[in-house]
Amino acid sequence: MAELRQDIVTGCWVAVATERALRPTDFRKPVVSTAPSMDPAECPFCPGNERSTPLEVLAVRPEGSEPDTPGWQVRVFPNKYPAFESCEVCEPGTKLFPRQSAEGSHEVIVHSPDHEASLATMAVEEVELVLRVYRHRYDANCADPQIAYVQLILNHGRESGASLEHSHSQLFGVPLVPPLIRQELEGAERFERENGSCVFCSIIEAELEAGARVIASNETFVVIAPFASMFPFEVWILPREHQPSYGMIRDEQLGGFAEMVRFVLGRYREEFDDPPINYFIHSAPCGGGEYPFFHWHMEVVPRLTNLGSFELGTHMTINIVTPETATLTLGTDTLS
Ligand SMILES: [Zn+2]
Ligand SMILES: [Zn+2]
Ligand SMILES: [Zn+2]
Repeated sequence: MAELRQDIVTGCWVAVATERALRPTDFRKPVVSTAPSMDPAECPFCPGNERSTPLEVLAVRPEGSEPDTPGWQVRVFPNKYPAFESCEVCEPGTKLFPRQSAEGSHEVIVHSPDHEASLATMAVEEVELVLRVYRHRYDANCADPQIAYVQLILNHGRESGASLEHSHSQLFGVPLVPPLIRQELEGAERFERENGSCVFCSIIEAELEAGARVIASNETFVVIAPFASMFPFEVWILPREHQPSYGMIRDEQLGGFAEMVRFVLGRYREEFDDPPINYFIHSAPCGGGEYPFFHWHMEVVPRLTNLGSFELGTHMTINIVTPETATLTLGTDTLS
């Protein structure tokens, strides 16, 4: 079952997906990082085990090679335990308990055939290939009329929510625009209306001028510690070019984006001994034409602290590291 339930008080939607509880790793206590690695022979994401995943929807593989066989560089298939899928038996909602079918998609993007590889250690060209696959799947999912918004994410490390250690990202195609995206769209639209410019372009310009929160930059991307960082060492990676949605990233930008993604993940790895990491790409809803004021970006958060009751109870965080300090720790001038 996959359905969406709405809290009538806050207006927040929750995806309920009971099939996902069948995953072998749910509800277990986090494993300490000294836990032994999974044997690649048993890893469903390793080459040779393609039959233990749903059929691939895309793979970068030598021309003429059979789908769902080894030889691929990046491989995409539907999640075996989807959070979003159609629900034929959904009960109708009521005034007090609104609900709807969680129509949509949920895909796994395996970054590399190498069980030990990670985006922080792969070559920039290999990371670029993953980001190119992101764009392809972003466009393909956005073309589905049932999907209102596409969320690309990385969970790295068990404590970040990753259920399998073999490096992979996930794509969620959801039938509504999630609350945080709605907030960002409203804020960006308001700023544009009042100031006549894109808020993200304005932030990039101001940060580059001041420098105190610029961690790295290259010709096409800027990496900053955001002024109101919610979490210690939170980082945003923004394209210099104004683009509402990730689907608009051009071929010439992919290398620069890959360089910055790899740099940020590599710095976390060096500084915090391979911590759990979450990243997500915020993009305009599908059919980006209605949201010309938005500017897509990636937000990256190393999971160095736990959320306590204050955070859970208010959705407001207490950040113990200033973004200016984070910049001094993570920053480099070798890339700028
Ligand atoms: Zn593997
Ligand atoms: Zn912009
Ligand atoms: Zn954002």
